[in-house]
Amino acid sequence: MNRKQFIDQIKEKNQYWDVIIIGGGATGLGCAVDAASRGYSTVLLDMHDFAKGTSSRSTKLVHGGVRYLQQGDVSLVIEALKERGLLIQNAPHLVSHQSFIVPSYKWWSGPFYGVGMKVYDVLAGKLNIKKSKSLSVEETLKKIPTLETEGLLGGTMYYDGQFDDARLALNLAQTAADHGAIPLNYMKVTGLLKNSSDLVTGVEALDMIDGEPYSMNARVVINATGIFTDSILEMDDEFHKPMIQCSQGIHLVLDKEFLPGDAAIMVPHTDDGRVLFAVPWHGKALVGTTDTPIKNPDLEPRALEDEIDFVLRHAARYLSKDPTREDVKSVFAGLRPLVKPEDAKETSQISRSHHLQVAESGLVTITGGKWTTYRKMAEDTIDQAVLVAGLADAECITEGLRIHGWLKNVDMNDHLHVYGSDRVGIEKLIKKRPELGEKIHPNLPYLKAEVVWSAQKEMANTIDDILSRRTRMLLLDAKAALESAEIVAELLAEEFGEDQAWINQEVAEFKELAIEYTLT
Ligand SMILES: Cc1cc2nc3c(=O)[nH]c(=O)nc-3n(C[C@H](O)[C@H](O)[C@H](O)COP(=O)(O)OP(=O)(O)OC[C@H]3O[C@@H](n4cnc5c(N)ncnc54)[C@H](O)[C@@H]3O)c2cc1C
Repeated sequence: MNRKQFIDQIKEKNQYWDVIIIGGGATGLGCAVDAASRGYSTVLLDMHDFAKGTSSRSTKLVHGGVRYLQQGDVSLVIEALKERGLLIQNAPHLVSHQSFIVPSYKWWSGPFYGVGMKVYDVLAGKLNIKKSKSLSVEETLKKIPTLETEGLLGGTMYYDGQFDDARLALNLAQTAADHGAIPLNYMKVTGLLKNSSDLVTGVEALDMIDGEPYSMNARVVINATGIFTDSILEMDDEFHKPMIQCSQGIHLVLDKEFLPGDAAIMVPHTDDGRVLFAVPWHGKALVGTTDTPIKNPDLEPRALEDEIDFVLRHAARYLSKDPTREDVKSVFAGLRPLVKPEDAKETSQISRSHHLQVAESGLVTITGGKWTTYRKMAEDTIDQAVLVAGLADAECITEGLRIHGWLKNVDMNDHLHVYGSDRVGIEKLIKKRPELGEKIHPNLPYLKAEVVWSAQKEMANTIDDILSRRTRMLLLDAKAALESAEIVAELLAEEFGEDQAWINQEVAEFKELAIEYTLT
């Protein structure tokens, strides 16, 4: 993908696009893949980088949602379990099988979760990963040696999927581009174009890199802006009543010593009635999350002190060694775009099903949902958009569509696995310029070649793009990421032909952002 070439294509086109999508998170990117693969001319615009919002800040689980089963939302679980199975097939380089253990400290918990997980297995049908089973105390401790032993009665083991969210988002942008779509990052929609009948006919947008304004026409415009959904609906109708409730979830990243081995821990009931996970991820342990109502949308939400204490307190209950603030390698927060119900509910009780609506102006809005169900959300949205725009009917083909980078039998312990079939490109770069085979930072496996690759092929523009979403260094070890800022800026400056002043400004901006991911 090349941003300059995409912009040239936009400038050349003075006719209508079939579909314009606002928002480059899981939802919008899924829509772009669906629309482009059905043959519709498609543009996607994101005001920042792909997945800068909620879609790079998830728990990284491709799951049916054991919690939704507890809440009795069986149809959501069935839908998500089907999507889990499809995603494992369509992106095997990014989605892996993950075993989870629900530890039992109460006499009833083993039989209760044992039966619950059998139901989970059945609901997954033929796409089930592996059957759940009950474990003795010894078996449980063999899988998770760092589990709190006091009062431990055994465990229930079940399986779900795990993935790299920002990498999948990027692969979706690439898949859409492979099918002819134009996915553009750093292009903010500032207004909607309308005709004399007040119907939406396109968008006004601003290039956030060089400040150039654009007008683009489309037969249908899709609003997939997550926590910013209301801001686009306000462009359509100044009297629009806000519909989104942001709910914050945070994660703490700890060293692997807190969770050695391959299994994850699932705590089904925290003090506030939520689920807490401790999951191995890219050689670290990811612990979270919370559910805190937040008033305003923000691309860089900050973890609250109460949330940090809550996660540390619960982690200490289930781990034999209590993690402290000093042990936290990184802290990151994300905001769920929940659709407000008529009756005021706690955010943890609001449904995670998706919400699709069409305004009188023809603007199509898709919001809510989960990463896991992005494909089904996109299918429903494009089905609706085709009707609104009167486009020639074309069948959805994404159930069996391979996602860019598709490669089977990758070694998930080798960090380059996330590139799938693109990995050879990185290896070629290193062959040509052996110095690019060096690590960016001694504490993490990422290579300088990845910076160059992401700048050349993956539309990375800033240090944040590289360290937060192309690699995951900021989320894995914020101090190492801070120490890597200069090296990354120098490599980017070489690619883009920028000078020392650009490097200095980039580094200063990144450090201001990254310091918020550290606790000490
Ligand atoms: C803490 C947490 C944990 C989660 N864990 C999981 C999990 O393990 N598994 C799972 O399945 N789901 C999980 N989810 C849910 C999942 O992450 C979200 O449902 C999903 O990422 C939402 O994607 P989205 O595309 O709707 O929103 P976003 O990713 O926020 O994308 C919206 C995009 O719109 C862009 N935008 C906004 N305004 C404009 C504009 N004017 N012009 C152009 N672009 C604009 C933004 O820049 C942003 O990139 C989790 C969510 C949270 C918060």
